Amino acid sequence: RAKQTGKGIACFFDAEMDAAVRTRRQIENDLRHAVVRRQLFLEYQPLVDVRDDRVVGYEALLRWRHPDRGLVSPSVFIPIAEESGSIIQIGEWVLEQACFEAVRWNEPVPISVNISPVQFLLPNLFDQIEGILRRTGLEPRRLELEITEAALMHNRDDVLTTLIRLRLLGVRIVMDDFGTGHSSLSNLQTFPFDKLKIDCSFTAALDKDPAAHAIIRAIIALGQSLNLPVVTEGVETERQRQIIVEEGCQQIQGFLSGRPGRAPSSSQLPARDRLKSAEA
Ligand code: C2E
Ligand code: MG
Ligand code: MG
Ligand code: MG
Repeated sequence: RAKQTGKGIACFFDAEMDAAVRTRRQIENDLRHAVVRRQLFLEYQPLVDVRDDRVVGYEALLRWRHPDRGLVSPSVFIPIAEESGSIIQIGEWVLEQACFEAVRWNEPVPISVNISPVQFLLPNLFDQIEGILRRTGLEPRRLELEITEAALMHNRDDVLTTLIRLRLLGVRIVMDDFGTGHSSLSNLQTFPFDKLKIDCSFTAALDKDPAAHAIIRAIIALGQSLNLPVVTEGVETERQRQIIVEEGCQQIQGFLSGRPGRAPSSSQLPARDRLKSAEA
């Protein structure tokens, strides 16, 4: 189409595409140094019980402060890190940092950490997580791993084995963004999930789209019959909260009850300057 409307426009598209490719390559490159240059940090968003507004846990959300670009969104850099493989190193840093920080919180509530499907390609993911729990001293019961349906697509037997071993340690497994991936309900039968999270996109459409409402209702009912707690993500308004409470959902996460932010208050344990130095 660009060709028909003239060479000038085609060139314009080429130049734009070129710039996008260069930006991407730069981000990919800069990501390789993000851990050692200490540009990464975690924010925490509360999960709240709707019955009493109690905070029942926090999700760790990764942030990247780039020296020139400022804060880069994880929805931009995580896919790039996954394609380039940096997510392996970054994911390990996230796990260790989240566990390290959570041990210092005053309330011993659960901490949820997102695990990329790419991390399941590691043959030693179980050992890595077990080692981190041991080194940081976080009780396995406090750790929840959020995985998406994409993690269940390949090497299903290996993934299943890893999840079963983690669960035997006491770690809990959460299905994130339920209903948006290559969903197969049989995944809920095969894999040992402890909780379901309804994706923000359904919540956002709740007021306008009867289909979104019906899907949320069905997921909550499914959770109840499988005896799995359900969390609704992305609750921004009182109206949305009302609807999902009426549908029987007991936990919410969203801007209405708290934005991602600083860690909950911590006791004054001596700060450890470098995570790795304590292992020496
Ligand atoms: P997610 O795991 O589904 O996390 C929830 C996302 O929804 C977060 O976006 C959160 O800030 C956002 N959110 C929470 N409440 C609301 C709300 O009321 N309204 C709206 N519009 N959004 C809300 P964030 O922090 O930008 O992260 C985006 C995604 O990046 C995450 O989705 C997760 O898939 C990925 N991610 C973040 N941190 C990590 C990480 O440490 N490792 C991996 N592998 N992925 C991560
Ligand atoms: Mg998540
Ligand atoms: Mg989610
Ligand atoms: Mg998501």
